[in-house]
Amino acid sequence: MKPEQPRPHGSPALRTTNLEKLGDGTFDVLVVGGGINGAVSAAALAARGARVALVDRADFASATSQESSNLAWGGIKYLESYEFGLVRKLCRARNELIRSYPSTVQEIRFYTSHARGFRHGRLELLLGAWLYWAIGGFFTRRPRLLSPDDIAREEPIVALDGLDGGFEYSDAFLHDNDARFVWLFVRSALDRGCIAANYVESIGSAREGGQWVTRARDVVAGRELRITSRLLVNACGPWADPVNARDGVKTSHRHVFSKGIHLLVDRLTPNRRVLTFFADDGRLFFVIPMGPKTCIGTTDTPVDRPEVGVTPEDRRFVLDNINKRLRLPRPLEERDVVAERCGVRPLVVDAAGDGAGDWMRLSRKHAIETDAAGRHVTIFGGKLTDCLNVGEEICVEARRLGLELPFPDRVWYGEPHPAVREEYFHQARLMGLDAMTSPQSSERLSTRLWRRYGSEALGMLEAIRRDPRMAEVIVETSEYLRCELDEAARREMVVTLEDFLRRRSKIAEVVRREDIRRAAGLQVACAILFGDEAEARRAEYFDEVR
Ligand SMILES: Cc1cc2nc3c(=O)[nH]c(=O)nc-3n(C[C@H](O)[C@H](O)[C@H](O)COP(=O)(O)OP(=O)(O)OC[C@H]3O[C@@H](n4cnc5c(N)ncnc54)[C@H](O)[C@@H]3O)c2cc1C
Repeated sequence: MKPEQPRPHGSPALRTTNLEKLGDGTFDVLVVGGGINGAVSAAALAARGARVALVDRADFASATSQESSNLAWGGIKYLESYEFGLVRKLCRARNELIRSYPSTVQEIRFYTSHARGFRHGRLELLLGAWLYWAIGGFFTRRPRLLSPDDIAREEPIVALDGLDGGFEYSDAFLHDNDARFVWLFVRSALDRGCIAANYVESIGSAREGGQWVTRARDVVAGRELRITSRLLVNACGPWADPVNARDGVKTSHRHVFSKGIHLLVDRLTPNRRVLTFFADDGRLFFVIPMGPKTCIGTTDTPVDRPEVGVTPEDRRFVLDNINKRLRLPRPLEERDVVAERCGVRPLVVDAAGDGAGDWMRLSRKHAIETDAAGRHVTIFGGKLTDCLNVGEEICVEARRLGLELPFPDRVWYGEPHPAVREEYFHQARLMGLDAMTSPQSSERLSTRLWRRYGSEALGMLEAIRRDPRMAEVIVETSEYLRCELDEAARREMVVTLEDFLRRRSKIAEVVRREDIRRAAGLQVACAILFGDEAEARRAEYFDEVR
């Protein structure tokens, strides 16, 4: 999370209703923290019949879960440290995501170049890629050896100096951004009766009369709330340790942090593949497609605190590495950066150790630690890739703590049934929806609406049939339609303009801030999202608040 979050003021209806319900009776589970781990916990428990509350002190996914590389991957690099069990688990998790979210999590080729004299030979790396493919159950396309000629022909922006070729293998990427992916789970929890609210901070939890009582603060109105629950799940990511310390919960794990940054620049190559290099310090370094832009990074720097920002040295490291490895018409400079991403990976280590020895071995696993007497669960570490396992494991822990889940086998994730999809695309075809695709759009309108809204997209078709203005692009330079803004205002708990521009959509990642400010239609968008508070929310986003 950035140290300075915009102060939210808006109070859309869904959130207001939920704030009132947070004080109603006793929840089975309160999940504190609405990043990926909190969101999947809430979605899984709610679908299986638990009475769940979910709060985040800022927006959902506004911390680590919006700063990732947007990849769902099995961790080929962990083969180097012989972590076959971890790689197998992550590959399976990746495969399940691809199977369950075919429109959102998609296979993508990783194109890895190999410098002469690198610590592993080219064939050795290809062998590793084949092993990776096998460990992943041959679920993806097979790896391939690349000669320098292949690279020159297929990806001419890769600089060949010092290379003796490379290899290609598959993993997966999130077609929309990571924060939108998290929102899918929050929305699915809401659909199953979870009472979720953003901008609600837990300020202290204590055991009272055999249950947890959490004092929380509505950050928007400054009002205090009291939430009671039978179980408490700490999903505060990088802040899990201080929250536990505050609430008197002792654990045998703790976090250390690794900072990572990405820079977004105009699209560098038209090909939809991830380019992978070894940076000067030997670590993997990526060029990742993101809609009309390219995302480059990442760094991996140990830091002491989770509150981090991009420094000039970070920027230089990324730009220098990329300029050295790509043949660009001119070197990328700071002025080419459209947007930046920066966060810390919460890495789980043994609480008793100093963290250093464990760094590589434990670094990318998650650990779920349960205090049975205290009826408390903490989620440590993890990856977006492993999120379905986290949801499952939280249900197991909840049952172990005596919570009866009325629908224990209920499948709680995945896109709607294929029959719903078929009906949606049929209706879209009949009404000629794709003819309304904006000329700037990178994909067909029907595909985009389905991916982003699932079965809700059927309602959007109806709205467009009723009033064709619903298909108008509202904010120039973005693809978002009037009906999508309507949906965001009604169902997506947008409190600040940043919630919409950065997390429900990825506009702030692909359009420069100044272009957003100037965009015709921004005021209309704000009016749809915030009603009477439109101008205040717009000014707040651009720091024009006096
Ligand atoms: C640079 C980088 C690249 C990465 N790339 C990938 C990748 O490509 N693929 C992958 O699988 N993983 C990746 N990861 C890892 C992944 O992003 C994280 O493991 C994951 O997002 C952590 O989610 P979380 O829910 O634990 O934490 P967070 O997303 O940080 O969520 C914790 C939430 O708790 C809230 N909170 C804190 N205190 C309180 C309180 N008192 N009351 C209420 N709420 C509170 C915060 O506001 C926050 O929203 C990457 C991470 C980084 C940093």
